[in-house]
Amino acid sequence: MEEIRRNIAAIRAKMDAAARAAGRDPREISLCAATKMNDAARVKIAVQSGIDCCGENRVQELTAKLQDDAYSPLPVHFIGHLQTNKVRQVVGRVALIQSVDRLPLLQCIAQEAAKQGVIQDILLEINVGAEDSKSGFSPDEADGIAAQMANFPHCRLRGLMAIPPMAKKTGDNRRFFDKIRTIAVDIISKKYDNTHMDCLSMGMTDDFEDAIACGSTMIRVGTAIFGARTYNK
Ligand SMILES: *Cc1c(COP(=O)(O)O)cnc(C)c1O
Repeated sequence: MEEIRRNIAAIRAKMDAAARAAGRDPREISLCAATKMNDAARVKIAVQSGIDCCGENRVQELTAKLQDDAYSPLPVHFIGHLQTNKVRQVVGRVALIQSVDRLPLLQCIAQEAAKQGVIQDILLEINVGAEDSKSGFSPDEADGIAAQMANFPHCRLRGLMAIPPMAKKTGDNRRFFDKIRTIAVDIISKKYDNTHMDCLSMGMTDDFEDAIACGSTMIRVGTAIFGARTYNK
């Protein structure tokens, strides 16, 4: 448990150094703890140790940890692949859905938000490396989706999220991060309805310093906070 606290302090120091090296204010960048496969007790330690929000991948884990009050007083975001039949369990319960990766999902979220009478903040997930194994809009599609936000008054587009390909060496992913930033700057310049683009969610355990150098405003970190995940349980 003490380890989680130490890990977060170390990440914060690296975030600060990366921001300063890029001439940025460290306060522009928030730390989202990717909490998948960590129970409420471990999440609570992280929440008390200087993160800004939690990111959950699975609806079942989100629901269970909300019941355990694991995240408060911090916001929780949804960051995993979301099936439309589970949208009802996510909308209105998370501050931000980062992983809107297809139009039917956006339509479904908008419909549920309207039904609940809430405005749901979202990010568009961009498959920036055009990988078959990952979901997300292609970089070419992003602007067209942002332009359609006027049709979804119960959603508000807050920015973009991306998971670039696994980098072979440090620095390899900068071109992908640069690309995401360029797409966001283009969308911002169009001033579409229901878009308030202030979040670029990019950078994870292995590449968050590069992401910060390229303009990330939110890094999502799991392993460097909680240690390696064991998937064979
Ligand atoms: C698990 C996860 C992360 C964190 O990955 P690490 O490499 O463990 O830091 C970030 N984003 C998403 C969407 C994830 O599922």
